[in-house]
Amino acid sequence: MKTEKISAVVDTMNKCCICGNPHVQIHHIFYGTANRIHSDRYNLIVPLCLAHHTGTNGVHNNKELDTFLKRKGQRAFEQQYGHEKFMAIFGKNYL
Ligand SMILES: [Zn+2]
Ligand SMILES: [Zn+2]
Repeated sequence: MKTEKISAVVDTMNKCCICGNPHVQIHHIFYGTANRIHSDRYNLIVPLCLAHHTGTNGVHNNKELDTFLKRKGQRAFEQQYGHEKFMAIFGKNYL
């Protein structure tokens, strides 16, 4: 049985959400010990190629890209669950 990962933020997990490269890794939009679990639970994940994930300009080394994705993640979450729940779980407003 194939369990396809679902993202609350993008339509497909099969290509990098920045450049379309099909060789992807899963990035948890809100990372760190607790937030990673919350990201998994609410599908706040995006596919990123190696360069856009851990590369020099990748999300883990590029504050602008990190903030861009966190904003997308927060918006997607709040559309479903609202702002108060976002703040209660993630504790920080990125918008
Ligand atoms: Zn990419
Ligand atoms: Zn990551």
